[in-house]
Amino acid sequence: MSDCAIVGINWGDEGKGRMVDLLTENYDIVVRFQGGGNAGHTVVNDKGKFALHLLPSGIFRDGVVNILGNGVALDPENLWKEIQTVKNSGVELTPDNLKISDRASILMPWHRDLDELEENRLSDKKYGSTKQGIAPFYSDKYQKKTVLCGELFYPDKLKAHLADLTEWKNLVLKGVYGAKEYTKDMLDDWLNNYCEKIKPFICDSGDYLSKAKKQGKNILFEAQLGSLRDIDYGIYPYTTSSNTTAAYAPIGSGLPGAQIGTVTGVVKAYSTCVGEGPFVCEMFGDEAEALRKEGNEYGAKTGRPRRVGPIDIPATRYGVEVQAATEIALTKLDVLSYMDKIPVCREYELNGQILERFPFPTALDDCKPVIEYFDGWKCDISGIRTWDGLPKEAKEYVLYIEKCIGCPIKYISVGPERESIIIR
Ligand code: GDP
Ligand code: MG
Repeated sequence: MSDCAIVGINWGDEGKGRMVDLLTENYDIVVRFQGGGNAGHTVVNDKGKFALHLLPSGIFRDGVVNILGNGVALDPENLWKEIQTVKNSGVELTPDNLKISDRASILMPWHRDLDELEENRLSDKKYGSTKQGIAPFYSDKYQKKTVLCGELFYPDKLKAHLADLTEWKNLVLKGVYGAKEYTKDMLDDWLNNYCEKIKPFICDSGDYLSKAKKQGKNILFEAQLGSLRDIDYGIYPYTTSSNTTAAYAPIGSGLPGAQIGTVTGVVKAYSTCVGEGPFVCEMFGDEAEALRKEGNEYGAKTGRPRRVGPIDIPATRYGVEVQAATEIALTKLDVLSYMDKIPVCREYELNGQILERFPFPTALDDCKPVIEYFDGWKCDISGIRTWDGLPKEAKEYVLYIEKCIGCPIKYISVGPERESIIIR
């Protein structure tokens, strides 16, 4: 079996966690390769219902090793809290089934402060950050002004490094924002309370992965967010600060030579978007409220109501292209069962012209959705487990999407539970 990446095709919250939890049955290792604790991957299985933020969604499978790769934003405080929450639900979490790359950069407490300070300064021009410190963290990583997890094993050198970083960061905190400065005592507390706790999980996970590969182990790479939030290919600046695309998985995982044979792109049967930025297919009013309620579209991390709309074909086709998806998992089809007529955003129109391709981000503000309607099926499909068992209208809807995006839809998810799946 070839290695696989599970990635989001849209704006995130497509149901990646749910698909990783299902498909890890066939894999030995799951690696989160980018992003941070701003993710909300909801997983429902025999162990309960969980909203994971940084932990890989393979942690519920006995025998599966979960890795946080060098590409993630490693927040020791929030990770430690998340480990406790998951452990308290009876899930085994030890250095045997959770490994943190020694090359993962650490998200410092001041990154969260800076995220909040900047969003507040921007006021009505804000980016819609989850305020988890992700953007300040990645900026500092690429400025080489944060700390690697492996440095925790060199305390004397770490102290000197932290002293230099604190001096520099305080210039910004105080000078630019007039905010509270960090002291050595504050950082010592943070080191003792959180960094020391996660130390047993830190190792050379790149070495572990390359040895596992030689032994013929199968690896699944788990992404956060979706194509349209990718820093290079998404709707910049309303993106995240890392690459959410499968092409980044080899770099961010610690296995730079990885050959990913299967890219499973997760597409939601309708659109949702959290935060600010252009969202061409957005629905408003009662129609939006009904879909939001039916799909329970409230952020797992923030509780924020998600913006909703019909499936967006131009955006989804573009998402499939940038992920180089080889197969699709279409999720939440059951949510549409209440609709008499199902809207689809078939195309974008800009200045009277139909666009052939998803446009440059700045042009999105002026794009209008071209909406087409499909017949609804108006019955509960959540118990259906075979393609043939689906109502004719549901099949037509799926086949139409498949044709438009040019990628085979292999999985159809009809409920949040692990087993609520149709495999074609
Ligand atoms: P992720 O960030 O891509 O992992 O997705 P989220 O977990 O943030 O959002 C997906 C939400 O939909 C979660 O609450 C899931 O439990 C739920 N979900 C996933 N697949 C299905 C499905 O097929 N049907 C329904 N009704 N809910 C689903
Ligand atoms: Mg999510």
